[in-house]
Amino acid sequence: MTVCVVRSAGTTRECDYDVTIVGAGFAGAMVAVHLARVAPELRVRLCGARGEHGRGVAYGTTCRRHLLNVPAAKMSAFPENPEHFWRWINARSREVVAKEAFVSRQEYGAYVGELLREAKATARGLEVTSMRVVDVQPNDETFIVATDQNEQFTTSGLVLALGNFPPGELRGVDADVRRSERYISSPWDADALARVGERDDVLIVGSGLTAVDVLLSLEQRDAGGTIHVLSRRGLLPIAHRASVPANDVFRGRNLPASIRAMTRLVRREAAAAEKNGGDWRAVIDALRPHTQRYWNSLSSGERRRFLRHVRPFWEAHRHRIAPEVISVVERLRARGQLILHKARIERISAAADHLVVSVFDRTTRKPQTFTAHFVINCTGPETNYRRLEDPLVSNLLRRGVVVPDALSLGIETTPDGRVTNSAGIAAPNLFAIGSARKGSLYETTAVPELRAQAKEIAHSLLAQFADSSRALKGSG
Ligand SMILES: Cc1cc2nc3c(=O)[nH]c(=O)nc-3n(C[C@H](O)[C@H](O)[C@H](O)COP(=O)(O)OP(=O)(O)OC[C@H]3O[C@@H](n4cnc5c(N)ncnc54)[C@H](O)[C@@H]3O)c2cc1C
Repeated sequence: MTVCVVRSAGTTRECDYDVTIVGAGFAGAMVAVHLARVAPELRVRLCGARGEHGRGVAYGTTCRRHLLNVPAAKMSAFPENPEHFWRWINARSREVVAKEAFVSRQEYGAYVGELLREAKATARGLEVTSMRVVDVQPNDETFIVATDQNEQFTTSGLVLALGNFPPGELRGVDADVRRSERYISSPWDADALARVGERDDVLIVGSGLTAVDVLLSLEQRDAGGTIHVLSRRGLLPIAHRASVPANDVFRGRNLPASIRAMTRLVRREAAAAEKNGGDWRAVIDALRPHTQRYWNSLSSGERRRFLRHVRPFWEAHRHRIAPEVISVVERLRARGQLILHKARIERISAAADHLVVSVFDRTTRKPQTFTAHFVINCTGPETNYRRLEDPLVSNLLRRGVVVPDALSLGIETTPDGRVTNSAGIAAPNLFAIGSARKGSLYETTAVPELRAQAKEIAHSLLAQFADSSRALKGSG
């Protein structure tokens, strides 16, 4: 099947590739895997950063203590085969891995890497390359793609699988600190973390999953200095609990149109679950299948209200962590090495051989000053595309190929993942997967959502090609 024939003002023209996937983390890799399964003859190019193919940021970690935050039996890469990963790991493990076990993210990276290698072995048209895409230019109904290796090629379909960007700049940090070795701007940069010495005191800004990752990395290296963890609400993630009975409490219900009423409803249901011998976690989990639909039903004012007032609480309860991880955090707190601050940064300045951190403590309502040798930015991925210093994103914005969504959580997309341009038109052959779709879906960054999106996008691309071929035959 030669599908890469595009209509162009009555003429036909062949592209270099049928589909180009930009970003080779879990999401990009799984689009490639699905295309390889259903149309092995397609010429597909998967472009990703060296060493991150199939692993991306999350599963490319070198720290074995970094565990999945979802049980093994729920981490299949295939929506139609929910225990695929759990069986894969049991086939390779000396000991039995329970369905509820939280295995290492490295092992998960090996799983996705193997799926990608299998796809490459069966699909002769799949090309996996180490390069960064720096520009995409629409060209009639196709795209011209430019890479950081001064290469240009044309493609008929394009998938943006760009994943999570590093955190945005911290406010209140002096320029000389920001430029210094003491400021670690990307928490996923293992080389930067290696600069922290055994006796150094550290300030981690942000108290979510990434902060916990950094704590585990420091603990693994026997770092003995004081670790300050600071966030505005001072909320750490909460642990999963085994064998939480399922709860179907929201099925078929009309959910309130206001976030305030919704918060009350969730609290009420959680309290009722606890009273009846259940667990509030089941109520949070019960919302997950409805989150996208509910987010879509909210007015933009209510979405903003959620982001401003409820998000930190939602994130702490929704994105839970393995019990063995929380026990490390508790150990650090018990021995006084970890200090949690509910505070706002006023200023971080440089002294002779350390940093001076001035904060406003929101518990005591008083200013407070302490010192640290390093500050690590764990405030979460920057989602405002206008603030990103990424060549591809800058070019896509400049050309109007993508537009940020109203809440700056990502870019404008249709419910099936087509990218909407600055004229408000959704391209039939340009898709986004994962984090970029947060504005329209909210729940779109974890494997259970990404695996479904990857399959859907692969099938939409094929349907699009079939339509183009039919139209071409009709006009010929
Ligand atoms: C630390 C961490 C832990 C997580 N743990 C879990 C978990 O346990 N369970 C779970 O379900 N989810 C987890 N997640 C959620 C996670 O976001 C998804 O599971 C998944 O890994 C996201 O994959 P992705 O491909 O969308 O993004 P990423 O993994 O970010 O991959 C995107 C890739 O695209 C590349 N890229 C970007 N721009 C370009 C360009 N211009 N050219 C070429 N390449 C480009 C990047 O370098 C990167 O390799 C975790 C996330 C993080 C950050």
